[in-house]
Amino acid sequence: MEIGKGNFILNKNTVIVSNDATEKPAIDLLNSVLKQRFGFKLKQVKKATKNFISVYTKRFIMPGKEGKYDLTIRKNSVQLSGDTYSGTYYAMQTLLQLLPDSKQQTVNYKLPVITINDEPRFQYRGMHLDCARHFFTVEQVKKYIDYLASYKLNYFHWHLTEDQGWRIEIKKYPKLIEVGGCRNGTIIGHYPGTGNDNIKYCGYYTQEQIKEVVKYAQERYITIIPEIEMPGHSEAALTAYPFLGCTNGPYEVQQTWGVFDDVFCAGNDSTFNFLQDVLDEVIELFPSKIIHIGGDESPKTRWKVCSKCRQRIKDNNLKDEHELQSYFIQRIEKYLNSKGRTIIGWDEILEGGLAPNAMVMSWRGEAGGIAAANQNHYVVMTPDSHLYFDRSQTMNEDSVVFGSYVPLEKVYNYEPVSDKIDSTHQKYILGAQANLWTEYISNQRKIEYMIFPRMAALSEVTWTPKEKRNWDTFQKKIPVIFSRYDLAKTNYSKAYYDLSSTVLQDDFYHGIVWKLDSKLRGSDIQIRNTSSFDDDGNKIYSDYTHPVNISTSGLYEARQLYNSKQAGNSIFQRFIFSKSTGQIIRLATPPSEKYPGNGGAFGLVNGARSEKGFTSSEWLGWYGNDMSASIFTGNADVVSSVVVHTLKQEDSWIHLPEYVEVFISDDNINFTSVGRSSQFVADSLNMGTIRIAFPVTHTRYVKVLAVSKKNIEAGKPGAGSAAWVFVDEIEVN
Ligand SMILES: [Zn+2]
Repeated sequence: MEIGKGNFILNKNTVIVSNDATEKPAIDLLNSVLKQRFGFKLKQVKKATKNFISVYTKRFIMPGKEGKYDLTIRKNSVQLSGDTYSGTYYAMQTLLQLLPDSKQQTVNYKLPVITINDEPRFQYRGMHLDCARHFFTVEQVKKYIDYLASYKLNYFHWHLTEDQGWRIEIKKYPKLIEVGGCRNGTIIGHYPGTGNDNIKYCGYYTQEQIKEVVKYAQERYITIIPEIEMPGHSEAALTAYPFLGCTNGPYEVQQTWGVFDDVFCAGNDSTFNFLQDVLDEVIELFPSKIIHIGGDESPKTRWKVCSKCRQRIKDNNLKDEHELQSYFIQRIEKYLNSKGRTIIGWDEILEGGLAPNAMVMSWRGEAGGIAAANQNHYVVMTPDSHLYFDRSQTMNEDSVVFGSYVPLEKVYNYEPVSDKIDSTHQKYILGAQANLWTEYISNQRKIEYMIFPRMAALSEVTWTPKEKRNWDTFQKKIPVIFSRYDLAKTNYSKAYYDLSSTVLQDDFYHGIVWKLDSKLRGSDIQIRNTSSFDDDGNKIYSDYTHPVNISTSGLYEARQLYNSKQAGNSIFQRFIFSKSTGQIIRLATPPSEKYPGNGGAFGLVNGARSEKGFTSSEWLGWYGNDMSASIFTGNADVVSSVVVHTLKQEDSWIHLPEYVEVFISDDNINFTSVGRSSQFVADSLNMGTIRIAFPVTHTRYVKVLAVSKKNIEAGKPGAGSAAWVFVDEIEVN
């Protein structure tokens, strides 16, 4: 980009020069925005000499360079020139970004003299929308597609079938929408919920509507990838046609969230005939070369005992149910390949062997994507640690969202090409996509709140060259990005301006320091201990000027004032002091990238407790590993108990440790066990403690081992898989 001097003046007399009818979407886009914002449209002509915007497409297509364009603004002309039609369209999107960010009606609108040569880094730039957990109308889906287009994304992954609803009309199987399109109620609140609303919830897209949406996306250079889930997440289909399941039902369209045991029967040929019929209609509606077949979270509970599934395993010399899943996916792949289509599936399709031509969407972190790329399979990175937009973007969220914390900065700094992929295989990373699952999103305002401004960050992750991506530069654009959302009356999260709270170690005193930050310029921060009041019973706030040492247990509040009024929600933080607080701690195994806590291992001795159950960012989580922490307790100090703060939320596969064992040592090498316990005392929000008491002893080091459950018992969600173990604090007393 090169910025020149002066301006092009856009006014009612500006004309558009275009000689190619295929450029119409780009021209319509400009005129619709001008009409909406400034109340006029521009005339289109074949030729002009001054005050014109020329739109021209070279139709020179380099593979993987579908979005390349040049935009040149001079004092008397604007020239948009795409290598392809989509490039021209992107040039127009860039031009719109250069328009003034106000609605002010004037006669002339200034555009800066500038030259831009631009092209995307990745050929796959996507967003997903789950229209099954909650249903969104054609108008809402179109609006969503407009958002994608404005950020130069080119794939829309449309999630159409689920346990909670089947949303696409299939003519040959009308009950899919008549029966599978409705559920009799929906749980209230965060899973596992506080009840059921008992309101019938229905919705589906007719084939005519789907054609309309596909065309709408095509005019914005967006390919729609439909997702038909199999073999799991299929209970709505099973409810409509019980012969598709292993037990033949009866089934029910699910009213709660999670993973369910009833899946398509892999032993029954009629399952495959059904799915082929469905896919026949799907590929007729969607021109996309790529079709998403799901493949995730499919329990093997039914397959283990179903005689037809056992027979299939035997007949095909398969080792186990994982190979049966692989058989299932490969059989579907073969069918879709024969129709000229390619399958993409969630990274579980790697288990039991990847289908020969399958593409992989890596969602459980990056491991699946890395493995697939190294096996010469194309990959789209959608790790839940960075690109799941159903996760909270603020530390103090007040609406119901899925747990865990994915702030704007984390999205912005995501790098799709992991250095764990060797250079010859990096080309298999086609790009990245953010996913919006809608268990807790039921309306347009909430969609916007969850995707903005994170979609702006995603846009740069997928478009901008790695070496040109810079968080500091991006932060400077945030006020303008927000003012454009305001202008369009789009809802968005202002979490970027939230107070942020960090608990740091005071190395010198082995104490803790509470640090508060705000990006809201000119705001004042205040803090208080919630148990202190003045003589009249009023809360006492003190001005925060620099990080403060906290030395007393208690619940603290921090708030931000802007123009003397409180901005955003207060932060509440509980501190508990013990002999471990602020001490040196080492972990044998780091926590999962998904639940790293605040500040890694130190988070276990930072005195800070979660106040919000599962949704707090204070938790450190281990999956399939034990937690083993060694804590320095000072020189030959006296200790007699350890309290581990943990979480029990079995619906989310978070189980209590099998037991917690405490060891002591003077040299941090040789440890002696002093006791163990598995006795859990619950307090609130599924949180609680396990306390291990032992005779008073002198020690320099205390090691705490929380042994995780390696195999969730039958009948519980996630049966057969490892369990998560969550810890947010270890007290040594
Ligand atoms: Zn079966």
